[in-house]
Amino acid sequence: MSHTAELIAVGTELLLGNIANTDAQMLSQGLSALGINVYYHTVVGDNPERLRAAVELARTRADIILTTGGLGPTCDDLTKTVLAQCFGKKLVFHAPSAQRIEAYFQNLHPDRPMTDNNYQQAMLPEGCTVLDNDWGTAPGVAFEADGVRVIMLPGPPRECKAMFTHRVLPYLRELADGVIVSRTLKLFGIGESAMEAQLREKMNAMTNPTLAPYAKEGECELRITAKAADEGAAHALIDPVEADLRAHFGPLVYGVDVPSLEAVAFALLKEKGLTLGTAESCTGGLVAKRMTDLAGVSLVFRGGVVSYVTEVKHTVLGVDQDLLDRYGAVSQPVAQAMAQGARRVLGCDLAISTTGVAGPDPDERGNPVGLVFIGLATPEGTWVRQVHLSMGRERIRHIAASHGFDLVRRYLSGLEMK
Ligand code: ATP
Repeated sequence: MSHTAELIAVGTELLLGNIANTDAQMLSQGLSALGINVYYHTVVGDNPERLRAAVELARTRADIILTTGGLGPTCDDLTKTVLAQCFGKKLVFHAPSAQRIEAYFQNLHPDRPMTDNNYQQAMLPEGCTVLDNDWGTAPGVAFEADGVRVIMLPGPPRECKAMFTHRVLPYLRELADGVIVSRTLKLFGIGESAMEAQLREKMNAMTNPTLAPYAKEGECELRITAKAADEGAAHALIDPVEADLRAHFGPLVYGVDVPSLEAVAFALLKEKGLTLGTAESCTGGLVAKRMTDLAGVSLVFRGGVVSYVTEVKHTVLGVDQDLLDRYGAVSQPVAQAMAQGARRVLGCDLAISTTGVAGPDPDERGNPVGLVFIGLATPEGTWVRQVHLSMGRERIRHIAASHGFDLVRRYLSGLEMK
């Protein structure tokens, strides 16, 4: 039988936007992996009436209710009281939990006496399964009533995650009737709406696996999700869909379940034993920054030159003054010469260059905001891509840098250098 869980997060600071509901993200991922459907997330403040209303609604549409937060000793920690009332249970003192809380306190603050309100955390619904909290004070709770399984977890993400992994998963695994597996194809060089238009009919016709598009910063993702009895069967459902999408989008797909374009470029450089350098103008070091965000990149990344003013392009990178005068700094020949200069100056196998107008104003030659040239110099030649990015300064710089990584991965994968 298939199960449906509903998450209720309790905490006014979540509603005020002071913190993000990261517990819900973690729990939803975990529940999906068990094949448990999650159709609703609710957030309520520290208010008993509204929490009660949320629980009454949740019990009509889910057979598992999972709450986070509101288990601690302060007076606004109300989850247990309300959930116990909703399901007609009394709160009773649980001596072993009280002892665990005392021991936890002793360990943490040997010089401070534990305040009485901490004992409130040991008041638990009668007959419940106690989920011991080895990562904090408030114990978790699970009980079954009126055909609904209720699970309450502490709010602090570290505790919530550990409790879910070590206490809740074993409890829920017995209910699981399959798994949900996802695979994400990453694409660069196509917009979300173009991708969606090409796939709309196919996506609408699919039920298992399903296909969902997501737009990321200058990129797109396609997530294939399958539900099956076990992982092997789920992957068998996903494989032909992935093959079909790869055949359709060809070199626009830069990876599957990979973290980023730069990570793919890094992996290819490492695999081929090649080094990279940069000559950056409009991206101001962003290509180098994104590269050096990756751990272990010193194996392949030699360094970069931020040649922001024209003079530095000439004096440091050796770009011909005549070229700069004739075409201007934002031009195809200068991007080419910058990349070649970086290869020479930095002693690297490949070099990325960027030169363009990030805005907010056009440059002195009247080049429009968003015009960027991205170069890649290699032992076999130099390629320059010209793009028009009509967006804000930050996005222009980010996407220009992504084009640099895209050129690297295309070159190293033997793909067309478009
Ligand atoms: P405690 O025993 O620490 O009081 P609790 O179970 O009562 O734990 P809350 O008091 O509701 O939990 O929240 C404690 C802290 O945990 C919050 O200040 C917040 O930083 C974090 N937190 C609570 N709920 C969430 C959530 N859904 N996602 C991320 N963080 C959360």
